[in-house]
Amino acid sequence: MQEPLPADQEVEAQQLAALLSEATREDLLRLARTLVASRETSPFGDTEFEARDILLRAAARAYERFLAQKKNGYEGASVTCPHCRQAAAYHGDRARALVGLFGTLRYRRAYYYCRRCGRGCAPFDQRAGITPRQLTPALEQLATLAGTAGDSFERAAGLLEEMAGVRLSEATVARTTEDAGTRLAHLLGEGTTFGPAREWGWHADARGRSVAYLTVDSTGTRQQGPGGARAEGRMAYVAGVYNPPPLEWLRPPGPVPRLQARYLSGLYPLAALGPLLRRQALQVGMEGAELWVALTDGGGGLESFCRQNFNRPDLVLILDFYHAASYLGKLARALHPQQEGPARAQAEQWCRLLKEEGGAATLAVLRQWDWPARQPAALREQRAAVEEYFGNNLHRMEYPEYLAEGWHTGSGVVESACKTVVGQRLKGAGMRWGTDGAHALCHLRALYRSEKGQWEAFWRRQLHNRPTVQQLN
Ligand SMILES: [Zn+2]
Repeated sequence: MQEPLPADQEVEAQQLAALLSEATREDLLRLARTLVASRETSPFGDTEFEARDILLRAAARAYERFLAQKKNGYEGASVTCPHCRQAAAYHGDRARALVGLFGTLRYRRAYYYCRRCGRGCAPFDQRAGITPRQLTPALEQLATLAGTAGDSFERAAGLLEEMAGVRLSEATVARTTEDAGTRLAHLLGEGTTFGPAREWGWHADARGRSVAYLTVDSTGTRQQGPGGARAEGRMAYVAGVYNPPPLEWLRPPGPVPRLQARYLSGLYPLAALGPLLRRQALQVGMEGAELWVALTDGGGGLESFCRQNFNRPDLVLILDFYHAASYLGKLARALHPQQEGPARAQAEQWCRLLKEEGGAATLAVLRQWDWPARQPAALREQRAAVEEYFGNNLHRMEYPEYLAEGWHTGSGVVESACKTVVGQRLKGAGMRWGTDGAHALCHLRALYRSEKGQWEAFWRRQLHNRPTVQQLN
């Protein structure tokens, strides 16, 4: 329901409505013809798309009509230059075009020019949050959503057109998305969090203690140097705090609770991610959980990152079970090259051992194994790899204990975090990224994959905290 307006505004609205119906009469006539002509076929399907485009155009005309009767950003003979704080004089109204949810709109707005720094400004555009590429905030949000969720910027432009009926170039989607990601990274760096602080309902383990989980992992991104040259790939880190549904045997009857997760990602040095992750943890009330579990793979520095940043004496460190298991899988394949069945059976046996007896027992069994007398290089190498990986991580491979406590041991979440947060979007076939673009996208992907509400809260904040300075060319 629409709130009634004060009487004077209601009069104005009635007058505007008359103007709008006049301004959109042609469009409505076109819509009527389309519908009448569709009688032979169907008013739905293709006709819906046609009707949508016509109505979007009509909405654009209505907006133009509305803006045409206003003084858009006229604030007297001069305003304070946002760049140098000197007086910038009014230089008349300038015509501009912008692109919003209804397509292209033409409008005029007051233009001020600062002699001292030679730059112009339009107070209306600043207040309205028009982007450097002349997009309205609503379209900026949709373009960024498409650029973040789509497989590539090209696909994103296609998504946007099909879903919203708005046509933007691939370059505009890319630039808009990357700008938003850069802003997001900046806000997070300043300590901004999105949405209200809210303690998650941490699920309980077998002894009834509430448990919070954290994870961190790295993944490569392909980089492009200046001028399109190949460049060294950079590591993106993905970290998260999360509250997974309890293990199946601890789950109360009823629907499975939804995973709650907050992710962070960027081309940061690992250490820089610490304060950012702790801030997210604080916002979801991780302090209130009785026990903390840090799940990572054996990647360099990940375990010490968890110890340093989540420094509780009883912090539980668990090596992701599936990473450990993948070593056993490779070992089984090296033992039975080109024999898929026996290799799989062997891997399953070892993995069961790992789950039921832990890392140390498994390593002992492997050391005593009746290895063939003549071993191919691949097998020797894989044995050495297992020896090293298990040897380094035995202290966090007590899987039977962890499972008895009711803790998660497999980083389904970590794995899928890395794959879904960064992998799917940044590692598409043939994709290469500049450092800034990849960094920006990592942030957006992490926000987008985080619990519901985070993405929306970021955009609400954008609407209500406009930058006060915008450079015009
Ligand atoms: Zn100036």
